Amino acid sequence: MRPLTIIGNWKMNGSLSANQQLIQAMLGLGLTDLAKSARLALCVPYPYLIQVADLLANSGIALGAQDVSDHPNGAYTGDVSANMLQELGCQYVIVGHSERRQYHHEGDGLVARKAKAALQANMTPIICVGETEEEHDDGKALVVVRRQLQAVLDLLQGQVASCVLAYEPVWAIGTGKVPTPAQAQDVHRELRLQLAKFDAEAASKVAILYGGSLKPDNAKDLLAMPDIDGGLVGGASLNAQDFLALCQASN
Ligand code: 13P
Repeated sequence: MRPLTIIGNWKMNGSLSANQQLIQAMLGLGLTDLAKSARLALCVPYPYLIQVADLLANSGIALGAQDVSDHPNGAYTGDVSANMLQELGCQYVIVGHSERRQYHHEGDGLVARKAKAALQANMTPIICVGETEEEHDDGKALVVVRRQLQAVLDLLQGQVASCVLAYEPVWAIGTGKVPTPAQAQDVHRELRLQLAKFDAEAASKVAILYGGSLKPDNAKDLLAMPDIDGGLVGGASLNAQDFLALCQASN
């Protein structure tokens, strides 16, 4: 049985005062209690990692970053290494988010190397895959996510058990559009079958999260699907009540 995993991705949002208010509101509503039975984390912008680590101390809610360099150190101005993130208390890091693939032209090979860098620093990479609207309309969703996952599997080999996967259809991110639970389940099952070809035991353990306009009113049906183990939450992770409701949605 895989535990429910709910991970907030704040994207490029927040301020010192807003972060403090948001996390205090989340804790005030009882998020710490929910963290006893579910795996919860917040992935925040780099400048706020230290602040949020402090605010989440002893809450059971883990800290994560939104990207990482594939290099260990050196002349890479503006980049941040996995060891730096680990040193600040990050347990998770998102790699291959569609916004990085789209706006920073990150390809499958780079995403795989970033996942490897995270693992080498003892963090859990949250590896994002998902098709664009055009690919979706062309019926290519499965072909695209298989290709994206395969690049990671080729590089990580036996380490996939220590990863989290996230299926985020690009057309559902921030749009209010969501696949039906059955459509999402089909993709999640396909990803798990692909993992199983490499490592059957890992496939049964790896959490595969759904992301894209996940809200309290659509979460229950999506999270009820057998291969949907939780959510990677954008907009709704910026609202304490919505985030809490999502964490409770599978009860
Ligand atoms: P939204 O929940 O805002 O659609 O964002 C999803 C996402 O991209 C999480 O990584």
